[in-house]
Amino acid sequence: MTAPDARSSTLDLIGNTPLVLLKGPSEAAGCEIWGKCEFANPGASVKDRAALWIVRDAEAKGQLQPGGTIVEGTAGNTGIGMALVANALGYRTVIVMPETQSREKMDTLRALGAELVLVPAAPFSNPGHFVHTSRRLAEETQGAIWANQFDNTANRKAHIESTAPEIWQQMGGRIDGFTCAAGTGGTIAGVGMGLKSYDENVTIALTDPHGAALYNYYANGELKAEGSSVAEGIGQGRITANLEGAPIDTQFRISDEEGLNWVGRLLSEEGLCLGLSSGINVAGAVQLGRHLGPGSRVATILCDTGFRYLSSLYNPAWLEAKGLPVFPWLAQ
Ligand code: PMP
Repeated sequence: MTAPDARSSTLDLIGNTPLVLLKGPSEAAGCEIWGKCEFANPGASVKDRAALWIVRDAEAKGQLQPGGTIVEGTAGNTGIGMALVANALGYRTVIVMPETQSREKMDTLRALGAELVLVPAAPFSNPGHFVHTSRRLAEETQGAIWANQFDNTANRKAHIESTAPEIWQQMGGRIDGFTCAAGTGGTIAGVGMGLKSYDENVTIALTDPHGAALYNYYANGELKAEGSSVAEGIGQGRITANLEGAPIDTQFRISDEEGLNWVGRLLSEEGLCLGLSSGINVAGAVQLGRHLGPGSRVATILCDTGFRYLSSLYNPAWLEAKGLPVFPWLAQ
């Protein structure tokens, strides 16, 4: 007999993450707010799913040969997921990342055996941007594929085929709304499409951080960014292929302070240590719950672990330098 949660391959550890009822957010919204625990994936983030689907898609199309190389540009989490998937399947990983990302992500990528290429942070229009650099490197490397998570729709397919059905089942088919922020847009588009395929009345809301252009785009058709955010992995300025056709019904804009407030509350009151994109998602979920009204049931994504941000979000000196509030228990 095999236990029901025993898995026959390490790759099967990706997905099937728990869903948890969040007490404080539910009380604040006056309804049920559920968090999908994506930090429970082997690479500790939601991006393990996209990495696995992108690699399996490239294999199925015959683009990735045994012993081949996967090149990707990433804020970090996709690289971590990709390195683990590549190790399990015998591929080499080259990761191009902006040097502004957390030190923990860089150390983790090196520890996992990925070859790390750091580039200065630059706008997308600049040829030195990490996405363009990764494409060029892939073209120059024999036997390499460019994972291209932003415009490769195998990314959102991961969420259509795994995250959305899991949420639907875990909520017993009773869900009124879903919200999360967008990096590539794979999660919001894929979960949105997947949930709408079960019930088109589920409200899909984009939660955008400041400094991103999607809030304005979905509100009034104008891709225009305002303000800025220190959140890593989210905040998009264009309609990626993954975002094309995303069924967004409404949108919220959340500040770093609001997101950090939930990161602090979820840690100190509920024992969950999360990154800032999770806090921003929870703030958006509270807004969506209030919008949908008492008795509604809302789900969001808890994207990655806070252990990845000890030198930033959980470091008083870093927070003070950014003009952000320090968690009371860290303030000396
Ligand atoms: N949160 C974090 C911490 C991430 O790394 C990412 C991925 N860049 C996201 C959220 C957004 O996910 P997606 O790329 O599917 O939009």
